[in-house]
Amino acid sequence: MGYIPSHSLLPGVLARDARSIARLLTRAESGVDEARAALDEAYARAGRAHVVGITGVPGSGKSTLVAKLVADIRRGGRTVAIVAIDPSSPFSGGAILGDRIRMADVAGDPGVFVRSMATRGALGGLARGTLEAVDVLDAAGFDVVMIETVGVGQDEVDIARAAHTTVVVSAPGLGDDIQAIKAGILEIADVHVVSKCDRPEADRTIADLKNMLSLELATAHRAGWRPPVLPVSAVQDTGVGALREAIDRHREALAADGTLPARRREIAQRRLLRAGEDILRERFAREGGQRMAALLDGLVARRVSPRAAARALIEDMATGGEG
Ligand code: GDP
Repeated sequence: MGYIPSHSLLPGVLARDARSIARLLTRAESGVDEARAALDEAYARAGRAHVVGITGVPGSGKSTLVAKLVADIRRGGRTVAIVAIDPSSPFSGGAILGDRIRMADVAGDPGVFVRSMATRGALGGLARGTLEAVDVLDAAGFDVVMIETVGVGQDEVDIARAAHTTVVVSAPGLGDDIQAIKAGILEIADVHVVSKCDRPEADRTIADLKNMLSLELATAHRAGWRPPVLPVSAVQDTGVGALREAIDRHREALAADGTLPARRREIAQRRLLRAGEDILRERFAREGGQRMAALLDGLVARRVSPRAAARALIEDMATGGEG
């Protein structure tokens, strides 16, 4: 089978053809230059979807919850795409999520698309292509695009922040503390979920979380929307509808109180910075070669500082023309 140019995949993507979408996502993830223009086009055509980030520590029940949430959204008639960021392996998380989606009876449903992506790119880059994947799925016309991340590192937090609405999942019984506090993701939540509420310890987790939030509110940096704390049990299938409603209400609140443009701008700014970092990282790897080796010698011998060396490298590349 011949290589289909990325721009030729676009009509299929826009018609929500799963194979065309999957191919373009693979190219976004591997960062091939050939796909650049097609991804730019996808960006231009995106902007309609409600982008929802779902984050929480491993084992908090995110995948199980996402499957339930997807089924609930589908029952309401909207289409959903899920990008699951797997910090460990490019495959296992996706397979697990895929299995659960299958259990939720939405396999083969053209209104659902699931994709898992590895956190680390070949160049040590972070979840390369994740946000471009969101653009592609948005351009493809999915009403809701979910990004499922493990909220343990700054990179994952950044990805969650690229969403319009961020849901943070805390589970009872994973420790005495609210895990989100440790992971530093409490403050990015628009909606809090306490998962596994069929468990007796859940009441304590809910109470702890509400306490934390009232303390946070006391130092009030957030006007308007107050993040609700919602108990959910994926096992008993309770609270999922309420969660979907809260996610929708948050989107409406963003639009109603005029903060949506500001949110879009913040996301744009983060993406601009990230794209800049990616470009530099790629050019360092591609063109740094000889010069890099010499600079590393200097760094190890402490003749030059990392910052000065990086500046020298960037200046060299700038005078070396476009790469
Ligand atoms: P993730 O790592 O955050 O994606 O978490 P998973 O969805 O893989 O769930 C972690 C574990 O919690 C699994 O063993 C699930 O079966 C279990 N689990 C998920 N949701 C619930 C729930 O609502 N109630 C109970 N009791 N267990 C749950």
